[in-house]
Amino acid sequence: MANVSLRGIEKSYGAFKVVRRMDLEIHDGEFLVLVGPSGCGKSTTLRMIAGLEDINQGQMLIGEKVVNGLPAKDRDIAMVFQNYALYPHMDVFQNMAFGLELRKFPKAEIKSRVEDAAKILSLGDLLKRRPKELSGGQRQRVALGRAIVRQPKVFLFDEPLSNLDAQLRVQMRAEISRLHAQLKTTMVYVTHDQVEAMTMGTRIVVMKGGDVQQVGAPLELYTKPANRFVAGFIGTPQMNFLEAAIEGSAEAPVLVAETLRLPLEGKSAAALAGLEEKRCTLGIRPSDLHVVGTPGAGSINFDAGVDMVEILGAVQIAHIRVGGQTMRAELPMRVPCKPGETIRLAAEPEAFHIFNATSGVAVA
Ligand code: ADP
Ligand code: MG
Repeated sequence: MANVSLRGIEKSYGAFKVVRRMDLEIHDGEFLVLVGPSGCGKSTTLRMIAGLEDINQGQMLIGEKVVNGLPAKDRDIAMVFQNYALYPHMDVFQNMAFGLELRKFPKAEIKSRVEDAAKILSLGDLLKRRPKELSGGQRQRVALGRAIVRQPKVFLFDEPLSNLDAQLRVQMRAEISRLHAQLKTTMVYVTHDQVEAMTMGTRIVVMKGGDVQQVGAPLELYTKPANRFVAGFIGTPQMNFLEAAIEGSAEAPVLVAETLRLPLEGKSAAALAGLEEKRCTLGIRPSDLHVVGTPGAGSINFDAGVDMVEILGAVQIAHIRVGGQTMRAELPMRVPCKPGETIRLAAEPEAFHIFNATSGVAVA
């Protein structure tokens, strides 16, 4: 068990900065998820923690010890990849035991560790099988087992579920969360999938283009996104964004986006002063929109034209037009909502997020 500290970590490939001045304290025993779009530097960050990638600048500490110069094999970490790379000619037991044999562990110790890991992962009946005789989920569990037997200080996962089908991914997600609850070892988990991040992380780090955008607990990122990027990345269907302008008097400013009018008297003058040229971006989640007269409807009302409706079973996603801009609303199935119709939508004033139109930074 150990904490991991990244202090001013930088990484470039030639002139191309892949990770920029990254500061991050990963607490002992936490499940930290690095999430962001493809190419934002997640794997590079993980590989620097693992010691598989040189660090250009800054300090990397594992358990208070600077490890910048320490080879991967001496860092006491175990990594699980998307491509689980099992040895095809070895059975499950041998695959899990191999790393310990290389490190010259006593036979009895290896046997007991592999059997313990097999029990945790329900692989006990499969120890004699070869990888080709296993399902995708079972193979991924063997890859997990190979990491568990090492009893590392830190587990690193790089998109370990990306090769599995959707149903299995949901199941393995729960298994890895259960594993963390049981082992209580520090885990750093990389994914591009915000649902994985939300459901598994104790804390989430959202990255974009080599920069950390926000660090926080899943609900914190969902309810208080620091900027437009995080707001759009976390949550599905995605948050709606509308271009808006501030109108009205200084005493009673109103945010206007097409036919939608949001009074701003609650907002501090300082926050509003941060908005350039009286323009801003208004954000609202599809699930915070309701049809007037239904439960949850709030005091902000506006008309919307329905373009298209996606029926998901429990809910329907209405693709709507508000003036010249488009949004989506997640509505209960029983609400009448047909393409070509106009519906009157409502939301609570608190459900709206306001972002600086230029920088994207959230206005408090
Ligand atoms: P992620 O895991 O978030 O998808 P990576 O950390 O793998 O992203 O990569 C970040 C950026 O660095 C990408 O633009 C990628 O193309 C680039 N990159 C990764 N590895 C190398 C390398 N060995 N040489 C040059 N560029 C690389
Ligand atoms: Mg990657």
